[in-house]
Parts: sequence; structure tokens; C-alpha cells
Amino acid sequence: MTIVNRARTEQELGDHVSAELCETFEAEIAFVLAYDDGRPGLVGAYGLRSEDIERLLGHGLLDASLASPQRVEGVDLLGVGARALVCAPFGAGPTRGTLGVARLYEQSFDEAEAALLEAVAFSVAHALERLRLADERDRLYRDAQERAHAARVIGSIADGVLLIDDAGIVQLWNPAAEAITGLAKDVVLGRPAEEAIPGWSVIGSSLAVAHDPASSRGRATTVPVELGERELWLSIRGVGFAEGTVYAFQDLTEERRLEELKADFIATVSHELRTPLASVHGAAKTLQREDVVLGGEVSRQLLALITEQSDRLSTMVDDILFASRVDSPELQIATERVDVETVAAEVIAATRAHAPERVTIELVAPPSPPVAADRDKLRQVLTNLVANAVKYSPAGGRIAVELATHGRHLAIVVRDEGLGIATSDQRLIFEKFYRADANMNRGVSGSGLGLYISRELIHRMGGTISVDSQFGEGSVFVVRLPLADAD
Ligand code: ADP
Repeated sequence: MTIVNRARTEQELGDHVSAELCETFEAEIAFVLAYDDGRPGLVGAYGLRSEDIERLLGHGLLDASLASPQRVEGVDLLGVGARALVCAPFGAGPTRGTLGVARLYEQSFDEAEAALLEAVAFSVAHALERLRLADERDRLYRDAQERAHAARVIGSIADGVLLIDDAGIVQLWNPAAEAITGLAKDVVLGRPAEEAIPGWSVIGSSLAVAHDPASSRGRATTVPVELGERELWLSIRGVGFAEGTVYAFQDLTEERRLEELKADFIATVSHELRTPLASVHGAAKTLQREDVVLGGEVSRQLLALITEQSDRLSTMVDDILFASRVDSPELQIATERVDVETVAAEVIAATRAHAPERVTIELVAPPSPPVAADRDKLRQVLTNLVANAVKYSPAGGRIAVELATHGRHLAIVVRDEGLGIATSDQRLIFEKFYRADANMNRGVSGSGLGLYISRELIHRMGGTISVDSQFGEGSVFVVRLPLADAD
């Protein structure tokens, strides 16, 4: 019975053992049955037609053969027309079965044959166990391979993947989830999601979890997540399964920011352009009236209003166009040696010409080395800072532009005694279109672009810009630029 140890599958084992048994025992039928979950199943057979097999499997005699060896004679044994049958049970636990040989002619099996069959049954049990263990090992290996494959896929996709088990513990947190949130795997894995992920208790309960990945109930929901200083907008989709829920999320913060910018842009443009347009329109209409005779002085005032307001409109349109180019690499920035005192003096002189009398503008400039910068762009930035200082000092006051050298940098300080800026607004005023609300600005108009443009230009020149202010007590803007190399 060498085949017992050579068979690669259970059926091969069953069929070959059966064939050899028939030959050895001079019998017509032989079979190997094994019990799977308490029900008999055919491992292999010889001499049985498929319709015989069903009858055989349902036969009560088999149950008896499982408990003890059987040796019987009859007319139509097992419903397959057998006249003599010998069965030997084998195995225990999961590898339990029976080995049977039947003759269609009337010749009973003797004790020696029954003993031989028991010996064969014993080795069949071993062989079956070996095959089942090998199958189990292959299955575990395949599972492990699949899991490793899945882990590689989850590790390399751009979406964050989070698996939370039924107890609320985070069981999976892929590299994209780390990258998007900045929360490291060691901090999140194995911990309750509500503790490890800020705001999860609220976020988790706001998501509709689907139980079928294709269902529309599990549509992505976009939620804000506060992570320290940062606010992220994540689009999250959850799918439940037997042991928990898998969430996949994408970072939509940038898209959201662009949408907000668009909304801010439309709000600013419609509000800030409408006011000067309305003035121009009103003044022009008045000048056109034929029923009223306007004195020369009134006409001059109306024309001055039209000029002033259309200047304001064109500045705003220029700002909008410039802001759309300022962060593109196409905008050329020169690096030249610039004497800041000269530029500041020019800016102050130009601003003074339009400034109301209630503000004074001074330059405090001890001798300072030149900086490496783009002269025209620096003039644009200083013009904006000084103009803002004037604009946001509606009650007047002193404005000072001060220069001071610190190591390899020159600081240009623009100081005013005007409205000041609330602390919560200070980090936002450099953003595109951001304006403190009208109450705080006392209705002073603007596009919200000046400081954005200034910051971009100063960064491109290798410098920094910052603000220090106390609401109601004035503001201090500081531009720092690198000094030009001595030559
Ligand atoms: P704009 O002045 O056109 O609104 P800016 O980008 O120059 O746009 O300024 C953004 C916001 O910063 C202003 O709306 C204002 O609220 C605030 N701000 C800027 N400079 C000053 C200042 N010197 N004093 C008070 N608030 C200021």
C-alpha cells in the first residue's frame, strides 16, 4: 500500500486504496468515507456508480460501521446489491471515517480479511491526516500571502485607511493616514479611536456606515477635523463588516480652501467694486442731467469723485490680476543692491501727497547697509504697508517707518497708532482676500489682497513679514530682508 503515502489529494488516496482493496480481497466494491462536520462524505471509491454513492451515504449500516468493525452478509447490503460487506472504522476527532469492501457474490469475509482491513484503515487515517494538515498549511500560507498582498496595497494607496474593531479600537492605520493627519501609527494603533483621533466621537457618529461597499448609504461625508493648529477637511466613507468598520478618507483641505477663496473673492469683488462703481455711476448721471444747472464747482467735485473712484477701481483690478500671478514662478524677481532708506523716503513722499492732514509720516533711518532685493517690488510692498497704516488710522496719528540692522538682516518697521488688529485676525490677514470684518475695520474699504501680495513678494526675495498689534492701539508690521553681500 505504498500509494497511501504517495497520494497528493484525498480523492487520489481514496480511489487508489479502494482499487487495491478490491484486487487484494477479490471484491467488486470498495470505498473510503470520511466524516466532515458529522456527515459522511466519499473520499474515494472503486466499483460504485454515482447513483450508488448517494444511497450508500444515507445508509444506516455506515453509522454502525463507524462505531465498530462490521462483517455482514445479506441480499442488498448498503442498497448497492452487495452480498457480503466488511467495514473498518478509522481515526478520531476530525479525521474520522470508515473503510469498506463489498462483494456482489455470496462469499463472506473472514477474520483475517477483517484484520487486514483494520490495518489498512489505520494507515489511511494517518495519510488523510497528513493530507489535511498539508491542506491547512497551504491554506494558511495562501491566507498569509493574501494578507501580505492586501497590506502592500493598503500601504501604497493614497487614501487614508482606518479600521476600527467592534470594541472601538484602531486596528489599522495606513501610511497615507499618517501622512494626511500627521498622527503616527504608534500613537493611534491599538488605542480607542475616540482617544487617539481628535474629535472622533463626533465625526464617527456623523458618518452613515454602509454594510455593502456598493451601497449609496456609505457615500463619503466631508467633515472638519481639528488637529492642533491645523484644520483638515476629510472626505470619509465607512463600510461595516463582521468585526468592525473600515473607513477610507481623502484630504480635501486644499479643495475646500480654494472653494472658500472663490466664495471670498466673489463676496469681496461684488462688495468692494460695487461701492466705487455706484459713486461713479451716480456722479456721471448727475452730470448728464439736463433739468438741473450745475455750478462749475459742483461739476468739478463730481468729476474729481469720478477720477478718484475709478482710480480705486483700477487699483483693485490691478491687485486682483497681480495676485493671480504673484505665486507663479513666471513672475520675475530681480536681486539688486537696494538702499532701503531711499525707497522708504520715496514711498513716504508719495503717500503724504494723498494722506489726510491728521496723520504724520516719519522716517527713522540710521545709516544702514543695502539689502539684496527687487527695488520695484520692495517699493510696492512698502507703499502697501504705509498706505494701510494711513487707511486704518481714521482718527489720525503718527506713522513711523524705522530701519534697524540685525546681524545679516535689515528690519523695516512700519508702525501706526490706528485701529489695530484683533489677535485672532493676525495670522489670517496675509491670506488671499482676507479682511477683518467691517466693524473692526470701521468700514474702510479694500480688496484683502495687499498683504497677501506683500508676503508673497517678500518671501520670493528671501525675507519675512510679520505683524504685532493690539486691537485699538495700533499695529507694527516688520519686514526682514537679507543684507546684500559686501563687495
Ligand atoms: P485691504 O487693506 O485691501 O483690506 P490688506 O491685505 O492690505 O487688504 O489687509 C488685510 C486686512 O488686514 C485688512 O482688511 C485689515 O483688516 C488688516 N490690516 C492691514 N493693515 C492694517 C493696519 N495697519 N492696521 C489695522 N488693520 C490692518
